Amino acid sequence: MLETPVRARVPAERPGSGDALGHYCGVAGVRAPSPVDLSQRLFYMLFALQHRGQESAGIATLMPDGRHLADRREGMVAEARERWLSGAPSAAGVGHVRYSTEGGSGLRNAQPLAVECTKGRIALAHNGNISNAAEIRAALSAEGAIFQTAADSELILHRISRSKASGMEDVLRDALGPLEGAYSLALLWDDQLLAIRDPRGFRPLHVARKDGVWYVASETCALHPFGVEFEREVEPGECVVIDGSGMRSVRLFEPEGVLSRCVFELIYFARPDSRVFGRSVHEARRLLGAALAEDDAVEADVVVPVPDSGTLTAMGYAARRGLPFEFGLTRNHYAGRSFIMPTKADRELAVRMKLHPVREVLEGKRVVMIDDSLVRGTTSKAIVRLLKEAGAKEVHLRLASPELRWPCYYGIDIPTREELVSNRLDSEGIADFVGADSCRFLDLERLGEALGTEGWCKACFDGRHPCPVRGGAAGKCGVLDAAAAGRT
Ligand code: SF4
Repeated sequence: MLETPVRARVPAERPGSGDALGHYCGVAGVRAPSPVDLSQRLFYMLFALQHRGQESAGIATLMPDGRHLADRREGMVAEARERWLSGAPSAAGVGHVRYSTEGGSGLRNAQPLAVECTKGRIALAHNGNISNAAEIRAALSAEGAIFQTAADSELILHRISRSKASGMEDVLRDALGPLEGAYSLALLWDDQLLAIRDPRGFRPLHVARKDGVWYVASETCALHPFGVEFEREVEPGECVVIDGSGMRSVRLFEPEGVLSRCVFELIYFARPDSRVFGRSVHEARRLLGAALAEDDAVEADVVVPVPDSGTLTAMGYAARRGLPFEFGLTRNHYAGRSFIMPTKADRELAVRMKLHPVREVLEGKRVVMIDDSLVRGTTSKAIVRLLKEAGAKEVHLRLASPELRWPCYYGIDIPTREELVSNRLDSEGIADFVGADSCRFLDLERLGEALGTEGWCKACFDGRHPCPVRGGAAGKCGVLDAAAAGRT
């Protein structure tokens, strides 16, 4: 289970003990031929995407007079229920959920960002990080640009507004061409809904239709409430343009080099009932569990997941090894964001408030404990202790991903290299550190065998970042982070 950076709040709906790594935003969009209950639909979509960000939620909808009405708020989507479920009819809108902020006001960096500029009215929802954002921001600043937010998403709006190109497609090529890194965008441009994915396809994005209404979403789970009749991925480098008469596809950029789809979407971020990158997340996690079981001969009585993120992997692992699968840890789903964890002791308490061992499953057993990944190791340490206190005779820690060793510049907040426990200790040292009897990671080769070797970004494991980081490091899902500049 990924772990929360010290400053971040505990996400309520993320899997595991709630100690989760930050920054995975979600975007949504709707375009109907005539006004419908649009804010309601965006509410249901963002509610389904809540796992991608709990810090703020927002929508921007098209008003009868052509203006965009933006409503952004800190906190969970459900907190906007009253307003959005009773919103006025509209024909177009976009929405966004966002994870953590660094320091300042969450609302300041909440999305969608809505502006009126030289090219019209634009509301933007962005998932990903621009890896050369600092360089682009410096260039814009030198030209006199004034920024309202710390979000790299704002750079996109500045570049659109300042573009000398004419026609929407050429303006987009001109504005987005110099950007490197990850952007999956849901964009309301006057009354048109646009869905745009960067040429490397880092983050997922889907377009769908039901009864003449078009939907755009980060994950297919956001489309389930509507029972869509058509759905496909937005291709890397593609812009899907939807207006009152239908949808058309524009090729903004040719796919750039090899694809760089974020493999962590399948390991951890995406919801298991989603399809992302053309794959079932559920099936991918079962495959990762089976791959983890290959060559693992540790003697054990029971396989126990760290819920929820380790569950499917543990099922795949147990099936391949012919071992019993049991829920030896119960997760309290109500422990959520009320637990802010400023100190190590508080974080350990938060684990205990969130995960509860089932003594009947664990007592006297040799347990294989399955989690998705290991960041600092402190959460796993607390969980291993819980299992042993409940009577587990042995605990063998197994991780469904390779060792996390590098930062991510494409939308995920991974701590500094020094903080990542795999940069300090080998598997044996980690087992000692967390108090387990053994520790083993899925190796990169097995990961490739399970999911296919081509078209993935695996930079946080192997340090081969597909896009250079220039002018200082990128921040996290829309926020420039000066402190991250020294991370490489
Ligand atoms: S570095 Fe890791 S988390 Fe970031 S995009 Fe690549 S695979 Fe995903």
